[in-house]
Amino acid sequence: MNRTNPEIPVVGGGVVGLSVALGLLLAGRRVHVLDGADNDARASQGNFGLVWGQGKGWNYAPYAKWTSDALAAWPAFARKLVDLSGIDVALNQSGGFEFFTDAAEMEEFAAMLAQQQRHLGNRFSDEIISGDDLRAQMPGIGGGVVGASFSQMDGHVNPLRFLRALRVAVGAAGGRVTMDAPVARVAPATGGGFDLAMANGQIARAEKVVLCAGLGATALAADLGFSARVAPQRGELLITEKLHDRLPFLSSTIRQVDEGGVQTGGTKADAGLDDSETLDVMAGLARHAVTVYPPLADVRVVRAWGALRVMSPDGYPVYAHSSLYPGAYLVTCHSGVTLAPLHASVLADWIEGTSAAPDLEAFDENRFAISTAA
Ligand SMILES: Cc1cc2nc3c(=O)[nH]c(=O)nc-3n(C[C@H](O)[C@H](O)[C@H](O)COP(=O)(O)OP(=O)(O)OC[C@H]3O[C@@H](n4cnc5c(N)ncnc54)[C@H](O)[C@@H]3O)c2cc1C
Repeated sequence: MNRTNPEIPVVGGGVVGLSVALGLLLAGRRVHVLDGADNDARASQGNFGLVWGQGKGWNYAPYAKWTSDALAAWPAFARKLVDLSGIDVALNQSGGFEFFTDAAEMEEFAAMLAQQQRHLGNRFSDEIISGDDLRAQMPGIGGGVVGASFSQMDGHVNPLRFLRALRVAVGAAGGRVTMDAPVARVAPATGGGFDLAMANGQIARAEKVVLCAGLGATALAADLGFSARVAPQRGELLITEKLHDRLPFLSSTIRQVDEGGVQTGGTKADAGLDDSETLDVMAGLARHAVTVYPPLADVRVVRAWGALRVMSPDGYPVYAHSSLYPGAYLVTCHSGVTLAPLHASVLADWIEGTSAAPDLEAFDENRFAISTAA
């Protein structure tokens, strides 16, 4: 065993665990990612691939700033992933739209963006565009669209290629990733450190442990002194056949993957751990796509799926270290694609407690205890 640089287990091999692992590796640590069972919920395999800022943290400045930092860091991060993995995640960050068919909703969103702007100053800009101006700029936009907001920092990646790039990058940076290695329990060990009991009966000892198990974190958290109040929120998505022509826009609900298929999504449902897709929601997604961009009416849908978001009570990330058991960390969030560049860099400083560590107090899970008490 290397006692001066002991291996840090990261529990969970979705985009959050892999990003955190990559950051620790790049900071010179040794890391072993333990990923769970094949039938686990995996938001990282079913997401929309947006690298998105509009509306994020409009009523919570720390999240607005954190997201803005992540957006700024994406281009260099994408290049780093290519260097390490040889995989291009197809980052396209040339701006994105939020389309509206209801004028009151658009006004409300514009007010939210104005608040976000106050938090971020010149690090954020948006534009509100009327339906007629949109149609003049982008022929094909539907008559039912009353307008849109546009922000030039927004973008997207190919989500499955991103997951793969992270996995390969972690290996290339010297990390170990073990798939199908569910951790049954993480218990503080007498005298310090942690014992990880694997579902296959093996026990591993570690000085530190980082819990990044998405929805699976709730089962492991209490033993480490965390509450891990995350819950599933189902999103459903449709994808069309691959199109030769490029869609003239990227929006938070309609986007064209670099490979050509058009993806529609953005639904939210509280359905427990049921990640199946439903006919009425699929019909609604198709209707929305055709309302925004009627030429899509002629395009065939080839696939649909549901996936479970990992949602904290307020929707913001949780970065917590255990006050009961020093050395245990909990990292979980929605928007794990958007935030990945920070998870793969400065979060390592926070875990290592270096002088470069960002102040993440605003994201501690003690904020839920405070809001419950209030
Ligand atoms: C429909 C949908 C659309 C989304 N769109 C976007 C988007 O456009 N942009 C964006 O930034 N984010 C988006 N997200 C959110 C993003 O996908 C998540 O934030 C991110 O994938 C969470 O990653 P994770 O690694 O925490 O969780 P997961 O991907 O759920 O991974 C958790 C991992 O932990 C493992 N695990 C669980 N229990 C254990 C255990 N006991 N031992 C070992 N391993 C364990 C599991 O096997 C799994 O691999 C979307 C999510 C959904 C569902």
